[in-house]
Amino acid sequence: MHSPLSAGMVIIGAGHCGGRAAQALREAGWTGPIHLVGMERHAPYERPPLSKELLTGEKTAESCQLRSMQTIINDGIRLHTQRVSSIDTAAHYITLANGQVLPYYRLLLATGGSARCLDIPGANQPEVLTLRTVDDALLLAQRLGANRHLLVIGGGFIGLEVAASARRIGMAVTLVEGAPRLLGRAVPADVAASVLALHQAREVDVRLGVLPTAIAPHPPGGVRVRLSDGQHIDVDTVLVGIGMKPTTDLARASGLAVAQGILVDANLRTSAPDVFAAGDVAEFPSPFSGLPMRQETWFNAETQARVAAHNMLGGQELAHQPPWFWSDQYNHQLQVCGEPALGTQMVVRELGEGDHVTFHLNAQDRVVGMSAWGLTPRCLKEFKLARLLVERHVSANPEELRNPAVKLKALASVTAIAA
Ligand SMILES: Cc1cc2nc3c(=O)[nH]c(=O)nc-3n(C[C@H](O)[C@H](O)[C@H](O)COP(=O)(O)OP(=O)(O)OC[C@H]3O[C@@H](n4cnc5c(N)ncnc54)[C@H](O)[C@@H]3O)c2cc1C
Repeated sequence: MHSPLSAGMVIIGAGHCGGRAAQALREAGWTGPIHLVGMERHAPYERPPLSKELLTGEKTAESCQLRSMQTIINDGIRLHTQRVSSIDTAAHYITLANGQVLPYYRLLLATGGSARCLDIPGANQPEVLTLRTVDDALLLAQRLGANRHLLVIGGGFIGLEVAASARRIGMAVTLVEGAPRLLGRAVPADVAASVLALHQAREVDVRLGVLPTAIAPHPPGGVRVRLSDGQHIDVDTVLVGIGMKPTTDLARASGLAVAQGILVDANLRTSAPDVFAAGDVAEFPSPFSGLPMRQETWFNAETQARVAAHNMLGGQELAHQPPWFWSDQYNHQLQVCGEPALGTQMVVRELGEGDHVTFHLNAQDRVVGMSAWGLTPRCLKEFKLARLLVERHVSANPEELRNPAVKLKALASVTAIAA
């Protein structure tokens, strides 16, 4: 193995998690080299605005950056805009696509994922786009505009957020989803129904149980999309939002243990010595059930980056924060915290005017998850308290949770906390 100060820390993937991990290494006092290697031509940035404020023009690409390029340089972090083509875990070095070799003392894989593409005839037309990177978002933004028609394929978070952004700038929007409801199993049926109602109220033409079958140019500059119900639709642009695929090929080829993602323990260590993985690509033990899970969220990238950095420096920190994410659509926010799938009972707390929090309780009445939907900023305080109940894994009386007259703050502090 190379000496720590000659080899240094190497991070593959200069996205949110990789960028934050490099910063955390410096903040924790690492003075040796840090090499951050990423394929994108941008400084590390946050992706949530790509489907929201970047499309509506409320944010620029530069304002999505985690930190400015100058701060990264001032921190002595060397950013390489290259693809990593191989890792030698025995000899502790990586090779970049340009042939450059970088030895490492500790290595972090934060390779995230890429957008899934549609596999139907004609899906390679230039009018058919996906959304993962800032360059994807800039291309999509160029094609949006009032008096144009967007077809969104997929009723998941990204598709719905893009639909909301496109409506906000006055575009006609049709959304097709193959399943009979929006958002799959990510949220309970009552939340999915509220999301559907809001999009319909904002005049999105939502078609459930319908799949695209073929795409052809029509007229020049637009496309005709044939649908499984026998109808067709002519639009200017198609946004395919059918999920992401974790980028595990490099890890797999290097002999690391990979399942749905790169397998790590609770300290984010992979199966190879001195190699860590974090963010969207890491498959880690759930803090509640211990079962392997992967998270595609801002919060996971943010928190795991810091845990990985700490442990690369010899720490034993656990990645044990309950999962949490949000989705902004129009003036509403959806939040999910914990692991709703572990619940055996759902308790709905109505907050008035359509806002609600659904608590997911296990057989022992412990709060293992919450799913919430409501107008912002009105409902955010209540959502924060509901999240606290999940984080504290409290045992709560369902009747009290349901009753808006009983303060969540009181339940968070007086009820038993799991060992
Ligand atoms: C449009 C959009 C909107 C989102 N909105 C929300 C939201 O509202 N709320 C929320 O909680 N989460 C949201 N997310 C999810 C969140 O942004 C991600 O979970 C987060 O970006 C994951 O960070 P990461 O660093 O793990 O992966 P990424 O951000 O994907 O970064 C991985 C980087 O690794 C690079 N890479 C991969 N392989 C190699 C290689 N071999 N060599 C060099 N570089 C490589 C990639 O090019 C990429 O830049 C959104 C995501 C998207 C795409």
